[in-house]
Amino acid sequence: MTSRQANQPNPFSSSEIRPRLERLRQAMREQRLDALLVSSVPSVRYLSGFTGDSSVALVTRTGQYLLTDFRFEEEAAITAPLFRCLVRRLGMMELVEKTARRLRLRRLGFEEQVLTAAELRDLGGRLGRSRLVPTAGVVERLRMIKSPAEIAVLRRAAAAAERGLLLARRAIRPGATEAAVAAELRRCLVARCGAQDQAFETIIAEGPRGSLPHARPTDRKVRRGSLVLVDWGARVGFYHSDLTRVLALGKAPPLYRKLVKLVRQAQLAAMEIIRPGVPLADVDRAARAVIERAGYGPRFGHALGHGIGLQVHEAPRLWARAAEKAEPGMVFTVEPGIYLPGKFGIRIEDDVLVTATGMEVLSSLPHDERLAGEP
Ligand code: ZN
Ligand code: ZN
Repeated sequence: MTSRQANQPNPFSSSEIRPRLERLRQAMREQRLDALLVSSVPSVRYLSGFTGDSSVALVTRTGQYLLTDFRFEEEAAITAPLFRCLVRRLGMMELVEKTARRLRLRRLGFEEQVLTAAELRDLGGRLGRSRLVPTAGVVERLRMIKSPAEIAVLRRAAAAAERGLLLARRAIRPGATEAAVAAELRRCLVARCGAQDQAFETIIAEGPRGSLPHARPTDRKVRRGSLVLVDWGARVGFYHSDLTRVLALGKAPPLYRKLVKLVRQAQLAAMEIIRPGVPLADVDRAARAVIERAGYGPRFGHALGHGIGLQVHEAPRLWARAAEKAEPGMVFTVEPGIYLPGKFGIRIEDDVLVTATGMEVLSSLPHDERLAGEP
């Protein structure tokens, strides 16, 4: 570790973990749970700092246990020092059962969206007098509100992604394939921008493929006059960024200019109203209204945005049915789009932090064709 890294706030230090466990126990008390079995990998990481996988956390009212196997025993001791490590010899659910019995847990919560049907069946048959209580989104709700240390890492993830695109944009030139551009961007992120990896498989979508919101890079070639949709991000210290720009190679067609402007207006309309207390459904509505008024409502078929953190997609979701209100410390994307099948797609995506009084955009790249590799 260099001295520069040592000075960075660490979102997995014990002083970060302790208040998380405290907030979790508060939520457990509200649901009258004696314990919560956490099996989602990012949630286990959030609560304990543990960097491995194939393990579960069991948090009781007074203690916390990391149930793992031989491969991760040492890693658990190093990265999750506040947790007591229990190493399984047989099945994981067998160890959960034994531990629940030993601790005399009555109401044991589990994550209904994470535990598999087989694990649940296994556990249900074994638990005897403990009662299994389904829960949804308990840790995910805690994860929605980022601490200053987490925000610092998210800033670095956004900055790394931006620098990565600026370095790689020269590769976006006539004759280059989508896959080659994606590979160069990934290389720049890792080798030159301090990212551990790309945040997800980069989307490089030339021309009409831009209307597929989740296009994978192919051998299709970028041509002069092409529009190229780039949706990419960086992973820094287990946290992610997620950005989208549409670059024009050469002179951009008039419809592109018109729609980029419109999508950017929609994004700004959403950003303008973001502050603590505003329902996230209203934020979605603000952007959607701009696109609807211009007659493109049906061509914007996805949610306005999603939380980012230990996962690229996490709570909250910004859509019409969102129940949450904006709260200081939330970090989410704002990404309106317009997709014209057979022609192209426009999406503009930035990462936003809700502050005490409003919001701050963590990303700062220009939003139009000025970004393109070759004018
Ligand atoms: Zn994205
Ligand atoms: Zn996104």
